[in-house]
Amino acid sequence: LVKQIPAMDEMRLGPEGRLVRDGAVLEMSAYCRRAVSKSVDLASKAPGSSVVVMTLGPPDAEDVLREAIAWGLSRGVDTRGVLLTDSAFRGSDTIATARALSALLRREGPFDLVLTGRNSLDADTGQVPPQIAEFLDLPFATGVKELVLAGEVLTLGCEHDDSWADLEIELPALLSCAERLCEPSKMGLDKCAQVPEERVSIVTALDLGPGPWGDAGSLTEVGDCREIVIERSHKRSVHEPLADQVRNAVQFLLERGALSEQPEDDARVVPVTGGAGGVVAVIAEPGNEILTREMCGLAARLASRVSGSTVLLAPQEVAAAQAGSWGADRVVRIVGAAVEEDVARAVTVWAHASPPWAILAGSTAYGREVASRVAVALRAGLTGDAVEANVVDGALVAWKPAFGGQLVAAITARSATQMVTVRAGVIPLETPRAFVAEVEQLTVQARGRVRLIGRRRADSLEGLGKAEVVIGIGNGVDADSLPLLEDILALLGAELGCTRKLTDAGWMPHSRQIGITGRSLAPRLYIAIGTSGKFNHMAGVRAAGSVLAINSDPDALIWKFSDVGVVGRWQDSVPLLAAALREALQPS
Ligand SMILES: Cc1cc2nc3c(=O)[nH]c(=O)nc-3n(C[C@H](O)[C@H](O)[C@H](O)COP(=O)(O)OP(=O)(O)OC[C@H]3O[C@@H](n4cnc5c(N)ncnc54)[C@H](O)[C@@H]3O)c2cc1C
Repeated sequence: LVKQIPAMDEMRLGPEGRLVRDGAVLEMSAYCRRAVSKSVDLASKAPGSSVVVMTLGPPDAEDVLREAIAWGLSRGVDTRGVLLTDSAFRGSDTIATARALSALLRREGPFDLVLTGRNSLDADTGQVPPQIAEFLDLPFATGVKELVLAGEVLTLGCEHDDSWADLEIELPALLSCAERLCEPSKMGLDKCAQVPEERVSIVTALDLGPGPWGDAGSLTEVGDCREIVIERSHKRSVHEPLADQVRNAVQFLLERGALSEQPEDDARVVPVTGGAGGVVAVIAEPGNEILTREMCGLAARLASRVSGSTVLLAPQEVAAAQAGSWGADRVVRIVGAAVEEDVARAVTVWAHASPPWAILAGSTAYGREVASRVAVALRAGLTGDAVEANVVDGALVAWKPAFGGQLVAAITARSATQMVTVRAGVIPLETPRAFVAEVEQLTVQARGRVRLIGRRRADSLEGLGKAEVVIGIGNGVDADSLPLLEDILALLGAELGCTRKLTDAGWMPHSRQIGITGRSLAPRLYIAIGTSGKFNHMAGVRAAGSVLAINSDPDALIWKFSDVGVVGRWQDSVPLLAAALREALQPS
């Protein structure tokens, strides 16, 4: 399954944050290119196999099918494409999209394996693949970066936020591909034009049956959009000696408050809940305690606005006093669930018995699968990757970034139970309240279709997510000189992030990658060292309070995205920066 999207670095937004479609360059979303490439590779090794590439989109989306077919044919694999296109699909949210693609897969199948991208780069919800898995009752794995197929068994290595999971799944299955699973499928226009007409078939809503399709089948609604316009100061003094440049930069940051902690809001305490109004449930994430605590605090705040109560649905042990202090009135301890689809089943059973007003989950690989499956099972509207949520006129409004963080949109659900996945690190932690939650148990039978062989935690999501100062390093930084950064990391209490070139080189885990296919952060200060400033990287720090860049190239793109710059070799600049910071930060 592939999606056509606007090329992210060329995208323009018009009035009211709508995408300017005229003249927009359209292309296949990067993760989908891996799905095409891997499926062709697998089919080429199994005689008699074929590949069908499908997309849902406007008539022009045929272009991405042609490219994928050209890729398959060039490798000797019988490849065809199906374009699902109809004005009836307009206004489809993720559940309506997943319903339509599931119907298409049923019509064109059966298939042994369905491959998709991890998410599309323009929307970043990652919901459609697990929602299709739920509609078709298929086992699912996300972020697949290693794949071996032996007979009917897939052995997978999956990249999940800050951890790595080794899984075994039997066919048929649905997988979503990570960025570096294999080489991306890319073909020139001339090769795409040579694809024979009969290799592409068109399917309409009528061919799929009664629906509901498009807006009529959607359970979420997009409200106000806010464009995030970031003005940067672009201060640089290229012709001054390096030491003066560094001193001026530090003075500039000092004056705008970028070097000191912002005064805290009045310490907020998790509110008292437990009223008879709506229930706000939180799906706890094992091994991700701070995210679970963030969500409990948010749930309590939302519940207090509707005079309701909160429930923590936990597939792991949680102490009643701790859960209560974070904001949970009750804990439902899920026993017997081995993997995400089992947790989803338990949550669904629980919610069917007594439908909650809202369900929150983390916007992580885990949370996205559990929430997507539950949303399909309950027919609940699900907003992905929210950075803010509040109650307006009794409804839950979730704010979701789109188009590489260039805008945020207010999304509401049309269903009785409203679902949201929440980005890690964006909800401020509140002072715990004194409360002991009631605990009950819910037992489920694990389905055993997805076997977890092992999980390694490569990093912790929270460190970088919550850091006030982030130092982002790029290809201009050499591994041997990294100790040079230790002083400024310590002086600023900063966390280290990086560009994709460094995660590709294996220097740092993917959880440290900042950008459109990595993390989005909003630190008080971002220091970019030896990074060129490509949109795909800088989109991840659009919301930074201030940006200081150090780069030896006076014409680097990074200057466009920075408030203040030092033009020079980083190896020379960083020790000067450490000295200037030490002086500026010492107590007067
Ligand atoms: C679909 C897609 C998604 C992507 N997603 C991401 C993403 O999420 N995150 C991401 O980071 N990238 C992403 N990329 C890649 C991105 O487009 C850039 O290629 C990448 O960010 C560039 O990394 P860089 O700045 O480290 O390297 P380069 O572009 O090679 O820049 C290195 C910089 O270092 C400077 N330099 C060299 N030596 C020194 C020195 N001694 N001192 C100071 N400066 C020096 C150079 O002047 C240069 O500007 C994506 C690309 C695609 C196509």
